[in-house]
Amino acid sequence: MNGKKDRSLQATNQLYGNCSVVHPDGSLMFRCSEERINWYLDRNLAKVISDDGKTIQLSFMPKGRGHDLDPFYLSKKDNHCVVCGEKEDLTRHHVVPRCYRRYFPDRIKNRNSHDVLLVCIPCHEEYEREASRLKRELAIKYNVPINGGGRNSDQPSKDYGRAKRAAAALVRNGDAIPLERQAVLKGRISKYLKKEASWTDIKRLADLPSKRRNVAAKVYGGGNGSFSHGRAVVEKIEDFNEFIIMWRQHFVDAMQPQFLNPHWDVNRKVVTSWESRKGGVIKALVITLIARFDGWNPFQKLKRLFWGSQKSADTNTNQDI
Ligand SMILES: [Zn+2]
Repeated sequence: MNGKKDRSLQATNQLYGNCSVVHPDGSLMFRCSEERINWYLDRNLAKVISDDGKTIQLSFMPKGRGHDLDPFYLSKKDNHCVVCGEKEDLTRHHVVPRCYRRYFPDRIKNRNSHDVLLVCIPCHEEYEREASRLKRELAIKYNVPINGGGRNSDQPSKDYGRAKRAAAALVRNGDAIPLERQAVLKGRISKYLKKEASWTDIKRLADLPSKRRNVAAKVYGGGNGSFSHGRAVVEKIEDFNEFIIMWRQHFVDAMQPQFLNPHWDVNRKVVTSWESRKGGVIKALVITLIARFDGWNPFQKLKRLFWGSQKSADTNTNQDI
């Protein structure tokens, strides 16, 4: 077990503070922790409006309306294991494992508290075994091996040096190497890459620096840093909604949770089609245009449209998850 895993399994019995933040017009905006409402009160941004001190009303006009009209976020949530109802030794369970989630675009990560569930440690451990099975299936589906075995990163194997030297020899001496020897060298590379090495793979491996940390990522087209199964899979995801729904359904099928919030929804969408991967590219293009033509009135309007929608997330942070 590494440090991160230990920390994630720290028991907590109070995930949901169930405090309420109300808009100046009186409508409930979102639920949050006691710490969060104190943040507003300390800055004179709100006043307490309930006898138990757990409901505050904002004294300023916020840009967004929080989770107005969203029954899941507005409902009070029980501090118990969603699987078995246990109230002690609870831990936050992320429906999508961290090894994938950490590579999600921020716009998805930041608003996906719907997929942080409270489970007791025994249920968590039980599901982790099930999740490992699904990860192995994904490794096959996306043709991305799980290296290392750590849950947060997958370090390249120790065979890198041998594979790198083999690739360099094949590129440098090519046909001068006897066929049998070529096959041995290619075998070393395939073993390291955990797939049949193509000539392109061999050339790319030969060109890589001697430091092995960067290697597999580059061979797999993963960019900087060490090779990560999670990152390589996320880069191949076409539809984030589909990927997240798959994990939710897997959790439900494997654990048969009996105590889920009635508003928790397997099919809830976390991104609109506009914000999907392709949508993100279009949005990036539009933003680039805005930056280029900044100052021209119609673009100022567009800019407000985009940045306005992002800024409205200011009331979305630090809420009950
Ligand atoms: Zn449980």
